Amino acid sequence: MSNQTNSGLDLVLLGAPGSGKGTQAKQLSQQLELQHVATGDLFRENLKNNTELGQLAKTFMDKGELVPDDVTQKMVKERLSRPDISNGFILDGFPRTLPQAEALTEILKGLDRKLKGVLYINVSDEEIVQRLSGRLICRSCQTPFHLEFNPPAKEGECDSCGGELYQRDDDNPKTVHNRLDTYHKQTSPLINYYKTMGVLAEIKGEGDMDAITDEMMKVVRKL
Ligand code: AMP
Repeated sequence: MSNQTNSGLDLVLLGAPGSGKGTQAKQLSQQLELQHVATGDLFRENLKNNTELGQLAKTFMDKGELVPDDVTQKMVKERLSRPDISNGFILDGFPRTLPQAEALTEILKGLDRKLKGVLYINVSDEEIVQRLSGRLICRSCQTPFHLEFNPPAKEGECDSCGGELYQRDDDNPKTVHNRLDTYHKQTSPLINYYKTMGVLAEIKGEGDMDAITDEMMKVVRKL
């Protein structure tokens, strides 16, 4: 794709909750020296700091629903306006609706940047439910584990940083079901949206995590 803007390597990771966006974004952002911008993490950070935004977001997150577009877009616009994204960024969990995708195009236009690619990680619903129901996350560095498929060496403790592992409030069966429903209704139309724009690459998201990272790196190198 040609590029006559200020852009660095500006990428979006698309996929259902639990498809591995966070895990892969972490790997790719380290290897490519990009900023990892995860809207879910930004909301959780706000909640931890007890901000008004965090309190508002919680009412939607607890139900497995999306935080309203205007609120989310404002937060992303502020984040992408910081100088640390000059080299490029990986958006994880944004956009999640068509209006958000349109807003992203506008935000980037205002910054004289342009999306280089959208990597869609495709994972079946059955696998998503299995993954989320046993997921544990590190409170300090957000590294995910799984009780059955990827348990930590020491119970309750992160292998990477020693932080405390916890189960996210919204990783309970009822909320997982609602989040998947929300994904299919509101987010999956973005697959076609970005396909039509000619920026979509699909990656099979089941199997060995490192092999998936390698596959994604191959795709990114061709952008
Ligand atoms: P995640 O960590 O990406 O699974 O996001 C957790 C929750 O944060 C979601 O279920 C939503 O309630 C909220 N959230 C994250 N990103 C967005 C977004 N782009 N738009 C609206 N809500 C979001």
